[in-house]
Amino acid sequence: MAELPDKRTAFVEWYLAVVEEAHLSDKRYGVKGMNVWTPYGFQARRNLDQVLIREIEATGSRPVEFPALIPATEFAKEKEHIKGFDAQVFWVTKGGATELDVPLVLRPTSETAMYPIFALWVRSHRDLPLNVYQIVNTFRYETKTTRPFVRVREIHFFEEHTCQADEASATARVQSNLDAFRRMAAAFALPYLAVRRPEWDKFAGAHYTIAFDLPLAGVRTLQLGSVHHYRDNFAIPYGIRYEAQDGGERYVHQTTFGLSERLLGAIVGAHGDGHGAVFPSAVAPYEVVVVPVLSGAAAPTVPKMAGEVADTLRRGGRRVVLDDGDERPGAKYYRWELAGVPLRLEVGPREVESGRLTSVDRLGRKGSAHLDTLLGDVASRLSEFDRELARRADERFRESIVPATTLAELSDSNSVRLVGWCGGEECGHKIERAIDGALLGTLEEPLPFLVAAPTVCVACGRADGTQPALAAQPM
Ligand SMILES: [Zn+2]
Repeated sequence: MAELPDKRTAFVEWYLAVVEEAHLSDKRYGVKGMNVWTPYGFQARRNLDQVLIREIEATGSRPVEFPALIPATEFAKEKEHIKGFDAQVFWVTKGGATELDVPLVLRPTSETAMYPIFALWVRSHRDLPLNVYQIVNTFRYETKTTRPFVRVREIHFFEEHTCQADEASATARVQSNLDAFRRMAAAFALPYLAVRRPEWDKFAGAHYTIAFDLPLAGVRTLQLGSVHHYRDNFAIPYGIRYEAQDGGERYVHQTTFGLSERLLGAIVGAHGDGHGAVFPSAVAPYEVVVVPVLSGAAAPTVPKMAGEVADTLRRGGRRVVLDDGDERPGAKYYRWELAGVPLRLEVGPREVESGRLTSVDRLGRKGSAHLDTLLGDVASRLSEFDRELARRADERFRESIVPATTLAELSDSNSVRLVGWCGGEECGHKIERAIDGALLGTLEEPLPFLVAAPTVCVACGRADGTQPALAAQPM
């Protein structure tokens, strides 16, 4: 098998090779940007979704599912929104041979599918808050180069939509989403930055947008997801109003929270190394691979014991694969490292004799697991692995953000840049031109580590109103 491209010098090539070699996706489908989910990739996606479901439901959100097709008349009601998505939607204009009276939009996101129905569901203050989410496929006509998980035309989309009584309650819901995302990201061992997007880069129709950005490969960042505060921008055109306690009619204030399979791309991109993918145990399709090692005159008890070890773990609720094929152990190690399995257990004649298995985690750290205490030992090896994975990701994260105090420093930058920004649009665009990328926006939460943030605007030198902001080249 060919060696993987170098992650540091050829990140994109490395990423594509890992996705391919780890069998996470099959790119040979006949429509650009539409992913075929292989069994291995699907399992990773499902595990990832389960973390999202657990965390969002813990905040009182309930699942729903709305149709994929939206009447053009509904889609066009919020003007900024339609403007923002105009160039990106797929249209359904015929049913059989008949032209449809009202053309249908294949949902790029579900505001305009849900909100006419929300207007029927929300009548009184007792119907609030309405917090619902769905995980469905959405479609966007992506014209740039597509990449598996990261830039696609059929998106595996998690979207929460909420209705709140007033602006302050909607702001509190945004905060609750930021907190939920912190817990999700912790399960994926992904460090990130919560950034308030500048006006010109917010979601179409939003009052404001907070996005989660992951520094990845030098000056590049990947947007992992976003939370939007809509105020009553959608409630007014869609007529979502309620009778308040004082008897008055009010429009709701709304929020949304969007995530996608980009998180899977981020996990591959952030944790992977020269040997392939590295999955945190919450996402790994298999948490443990058991490999029988039949060296020399192997005892016939080896395959039996390997099978028993796998069974015990499976019964204990672990996701396990037993690799009892006839390849040499070295070839198996190589393959499961490529696939990113967190922990490998080796069962050989010595192990059978001592009752003590050799365990090697995906970061190359050796340990052991006793047969008598197998489940507990494996659980603690996996949590050690997750902690170390997070620690290493965190270390790279800290190194990837470097302050800049002049525009000249932004050109040819090889890291994400922390700058001062006065909030002026003209200065914002100067910063974007200098870094040949985007002003991601102002920090919504302080950096999780101490960096002296510049106090004057990098473009105009003003101190008044200047906030720390991030500039990078989004992927
Ligand atoms: Zn300025």
